[in-house]
Amino acid sequence: KNPRKTIAAGNWKMNKTPKEAVAFVNELKASIADASNEVVVGVPFVCLPGVVEAVKGTNIKVAAQNMHWEEKGAYTGEVSGPMLADLGVDYVIIGHSERREYFGETNEMINKKAHAIFNYGMTPIICCGETLTQREQGVTADHVRYQIKVALLGLTAEQVKKTVIAYEPIWAIGTGKTATNEQANEVCGIIRQLVCELYGEEVAEQVRVQYGGSVNAKNAAELFAMSDIDGGLVGGASLKVDEFTVIANA
Ligand code: PEP
Repeated sequence: KNPRKTIAAGNWKMNKTPKEAVAFVNELKASIADASNEVVVGVPFVCLPGVVEAVKGTNIKVAAQNMHWEEKGAYTGEVSGPMLADLGVDYVIIGHSERREYFGETNEMINKKAHAIFNYGMTPIICCGETLTQREQGVTADHVRYQIKVALLGLTAEQVKKTVIAYEPIWAIGTGKTATNEQANEVCGIIRQLVCELYGEEVAEQVRVQYGGSVNAKNAAELFAMSDIDGGLVGGASLKVDEFTVIANA
C-alpha cells in the first residue's frame, strides 16, 4: 500500500468514568500489545490523568476530545494546551461534528485550536464531513475541502505532515450506516488532493486521512485497506475491548 501508519483511534465521547476508563485500558493494553495499527484512545478530560498513567510503557496513545486555543485565562469550563501537554496527552480531536452542531465550533475556531495543539507539542485529529442533504445535493467535495482548507490555514508543511484528518460523513456517525469503501475512499482522496494542492505531493503522501462513521470489527479491515484511508476514528465500537482490538489489528 503506502508508507503511512494506519491509525485506529477511539472516540469515547461522553462515556466512562475515570475508574471505568482505567479498567478498560488495563484490559485493552494486554489485548492490543501486538497491534499492527497505531492505537489511540480519545477519552473525556477527567479520565485523562488515569488513562495516561495506565498506558505508560504500552503502545496506546491518548487523545483529548477538545481543547481551547488560549494558553490560560477567563474561559470558564475550558481546558488549555499547557494543561493537556503537562499530562502527557499525544493527540487532540477537534472539529467533531457533535462539537460543531451542539457547541458552535466553527472552522475558524478549529484552525486556532490546531495551531495551539502544535504549539504545545501535541498533534490534532481534525474532523470534517458532510450532512446527508449536502451529499444528496452533490456538494460533499466543496464542503469538506472548505472545512479542511480553513482548518489548516497558516500551518507549516511539517505540521501538516503530522496532522491526522478524520473524514466523518455525519449521516454515518452513530447510525450504523457506514459509507461504502468506495464512498469513503473517494472523499479521503479528495482531502489528500487538497493537501497536495496546498502543500505539495510529499506532504500529501504523509498526511493521514482516517474514515469515521459506524466503523466496527466487521468492516474495519476492508475500509482500512483502501488506498486513501489510513485508519479510522471509531465511536461506539471503541467502547468494547474485544471489538476495538479487532479494529486495532484491521
Ligand atoms: C465518531 O463519533 O467519531 C464516530 C465515528 O462514531 P461511530 O463510530 O459511533 O459512528
